[in-house]
Amino acid sequence: MARAFFDSDADMALLSGRTVGILGYGNQGRSQALNLRDSGVAVVVGNQRDASFDLALRDGFDVFELGGAAERADILALLIPDEVMPEIVRDTIVPHVGVDDMLILASGYNLFFGLIDVPPTADVAMIAPRMIGTGVRETYVRGEGFPSLLSVEQDHSGHALAVALAVAKGIGSTRTGVFLSSAEEETVCDLLNEHFGYVYELRRAYEVLTDAGYSPEAALLEFYVSGEEMELARAHAHMGLFHQLILHSKTSQYGQLVTGRLSPEHEEAEKMRLRRIVDNIRSGQFAKDWSEERQTGRPTFRRAQQEALSHPMVEEERKLFAALKRRQGDASALLALEGHA
Ligand code: NDP
Repeated sequence: MARAFFDSDADMALLSGRTVGILGYGNQGRSQALNLRDSGVAVVVGNQRDASFDLALRDGFDVFELGGAAERADILALLIPDEVMPEIVRDTIVPHVGVDDMLILASGYNLFFGLIDVPPTADVAMIAPRMIGTGVRETYVRGEGFPSLLSVEQDHSGHALAVALAVAKGIGSTRTGVFLSSAEEETVCDLLNEHFGYVYELRRAYEVLTDAGYSPEAALLEFYVSGEEMELARAHAHMGLFHQLILHSKTSQYGQLVTGRLSPEHEEAEKMRLRRIVDNIRSGQFAKDWSEERQTGRPTFRRAQQEALSHPMVEEERKLFAALKRRQGDASALLALEGHA
């Protein structure tokens, strides 16, 4: 089993006299900043001057532009989107990175694909929460915490692991468990999960049912709109994928375990598909494709987004949400951002 660290393995005294700069006050940044402050750590926030900057001020932090915060901190948590990070690190952060300062990334992406250059005299660590930003705060406030993957990618000071663990404790992660990993491992697991094709799998099931004459409402409620999936996900996380089957009827268990299983040939073919996805990630091909896509204005991404959001299923979802008096997340802002408006 991977080496795991808990509260008793981390010494927050290592952070005394040091300042953590939270660079990016978004999903992860706000939660990590609040958690660190509540854990007694000195925090400054860096963000571009906009609504998030103002929110950090209202939350009572000392807030600067990214470079200003980097200058004032010696532990720099890079919590800006991965795709803008390389340029910002090169132009705005690195000029303020001193000897034995630490850069912490919340994802392995830019480290594994070699997209950021940091001075060899700095420490570099990854603390990758396995938790969305709001959950990072909510679980901390509830006294529970959340798991993370941690790695040390560069250790100039000789103390990088201990300092990274102290930060992981400050954000609440060692309460649950921090697992020793690597930027490569985090990236490959994370991207495989995203490239799996889950949303299309659900849409295919919807299409098959409605093509067969069943109502969109019945199909949507069955697969995800009811919210039952949230309860199942909780059962997966707390009981285990197969142990949680005990919560289902015997008919359901037989269907899931026996009827739903692919034949050995199809199972091998599906594994081959997943291996090809892993190869595409490990070889750097995905990162290259995504980088080219962004440089050319994201044409394929925008087409896929447009196609997804104009699928008849989306209108059926809207009607069902209205019937359920449920407020739907607004995709129009997302589309405007991608230039569809
Ligand atoms: P967000 O999309 O929430 O953005 C974070 C911050 O970056 C925001 O404050 C945003 O400012 C700022 N920002 C965006 N674009 C720019 C830019 N061009 N220049 C300067 N600042 C910019 O990021 P996340 O919190 O989701 O992700 C941060 C890191 O955490 C990433 O490495 C991600 O992979 C990792 N991570 C995220 C998880 C999640 O659930 N979200 C889970 C685990 C890891 P503004 O709001 O002002 O636009």
